[in-house]
Amino acid sequence: MKRTDCLDWDQYFMGIALLSAQRSKDPSTQVGACIVNQNQRIVGIGYNGFPYGCHDDDFPWQRQGEPLETKYPYVVHAELNAILNSSENLRGASVYVSLFPCNECAKAIIQSGIRELIYMSDKYEGSLENQASKRMLAAAGVVWRQMAPMKLRIEE
Ligand SMILES: [Zn+2]
Repeated sequence: MKRTDCLDWDQYFMGIALLSAQRSKDPSTQVGACIVNQNQRIVGIGYNGFPYGCHDDDFPWQRQGEPLETKYPYVVHAELNAILNSSENLRGASVYVSLFPCNECAKAIIQSGIRELIYMSDKYEGSLENQASKRMLAAAGVVWRQMAPMKLRIEE
């Protein structure tokens, strides 16, 4: 008799996005992304962090203060990292993200050929970036759907 309480595909891939988010050094926001191709194969994983060579000890994580001493000019978002980390063509792929993508990531998602977006939180709903993101995604025919919140719990 097989197990019936296993993770379904959505929970599995979102779980991997959430696990990836736990790698982020950002003290305030941890976001993870998992890209899956049409054969349900994982083809890209990412979390928010600084680019290669830009060390967490040398670059700031703060959100306020002198613009060049905040994280914003430097951080690479989880979705963009997942796209850049992928070695596959992403046409027709789906991306699982814990937070609805910003407008900059929406551009990268569209240009990479990703066609579906699955997210959990949309805590910036209504912000200018969020509106711009949805406007572009809709125009480009990327479909999105929300997944019920889930907590990642890993035990042996
Ligand atoms: Zn973004």
